Amino acid sequence: MECSSHHFDAIVVGAGIMGSSTAYQLAKRGQKTLLLEQFDFLHHRGSSHGESRTIRATYPEDYYCDMVMESLQMWEQAQSEAGYKVYFKAQQFDMSPSDNKSLRSVISSCEKNSIPYRVLDRQQVSDRFSGMINIPEDWFGVLTDVGGVIKPTKAVSMFQALAFQRGAVLRDNMEVKKRCERRGSRRGRRQSLPSEVIFRRLQATGRPYVYGTPSLEFPGLIKIAVHGGYPCDPDKRPWGLGTSLDSLKEWIQGRFSGLVDDGGPVNTQSCHGFKMAPVVGRVLADLVLGGEAKGVELKYFRIRRFQENPGGNVKDYEDQVNSFSNHK
Ligand SMILES: Cc1cc2nc3c(=O)[nH]c(=O)nc-3n(C[C@H](O)[C@H](O)[C@H](O)COP(=O)(O)OP(=O)(O)OC[C@H]3O[C@@H](n4cnc5c(N)ncnc54)[C@H](O)[C@@H]3O)c2cc1C
Repeated sequence: MECSSHHFDAIVVGAGIMGSSTAYQLAKRGQKTLLLEQFDFLHHRGSSHGESRTIRATYPEDYYCDMVMESLQMWEQAQSEAGYKVYFKAQQFDMSPSDNKSLRSVISSCEKNSIPYRVLDRQQVSDRFSGMINIPEDWFGVLTDVGGVIKPTKAVSMFQALAFQRGAVLRDNMEVKKRCERRGSRRGRRQSLPSEVIFRRLQATGRPYVYGTPSLEFPGLIKIAVHGGYPCDPDKRPWGLGTSLDSLKEWIQGRFSGLVDDGGPVNTQSCHGFKMAPVVGRVLADLVLGGEAKGVELKYFRIRRFQENPGGNVKDYEDQVNSFSNHK
């Protein structure tokens, strides 16, 4: 490696959105930073590429709301530093059966975090969306102004460019095989990872748990996906859908009948880390440099939470992420 004779204050392994945002944070704070990626930069084999990622604050976990609000500011700040946009504001619309505890918790969480919201019944949903969205009689919806769409590949590239501008060294096709720890050094210590309203984002809690984002690249279309996934080895994962889409197709027909062609492929699987990348980068840089991070309750993100409870954080509402068991 050509920079082997250099000394770095911080080495970040993996140039997805988390690594790229962390490298930017470290470089911004004057750290001599190296960002290493095993494949080509902006490759398609990780989680951070593609056409769209959602950002929303409507989480039943109220500690996520704070992180989203901080991230939103940081997205704005980073894109204004870069001089181009990666985040596009949109309203967020969540819908679910009226007895759904997750969406009820979302409302409490909005209240706790002073996020303005409106609760809509079936008729109000129909009026608000000019009859384009139909929800069953016993469903309700929650509308907020906090949300939007992020362009993932462009966002990763933005953080890499910003890190580079701040003096970080970026190298791809460089797989890290082994991590060495210096005794007494804080760096390298194992840390807990916080592992114009013409369009709107939507989300439906329940089974299937579905979300959608307007397509920025193909105006007039929306991406609709099942929020969930199944366990797999990142190095040997199956390509293709890996799960049946029948329930998703049925859901789409029920909510948007006559407006969609649901015969073709439909995207599935997601998670919700991307929107948090700016704050994760900030927290990781805080941890590396000072050993503590302010403003985020790390207990919810510690690996050892699984030792305490194999299911992770305890929730008193329905889990928002489905785990498919019928994958091939
Ligand atoms: C289909 C899909 C939809 C999603 N939708 C949303 C959404 O709407 N909203 C949202 O907020 N989040 C969403 N997410 C989640 C979000 O995209 C991920 O949480 C985020 O991209 C994870 O970023 P990462 O940097 O941790 O991982 P990755 O992007 O996978 O990056 C890790 C990088 O590390 C590299 N690497 C690994 N090991 C080594 C090594 N030994 N040496 C060098 N390099 C290495 C990998 O090659 C990779 O480039 C979605 C995810 C998916 C897959």
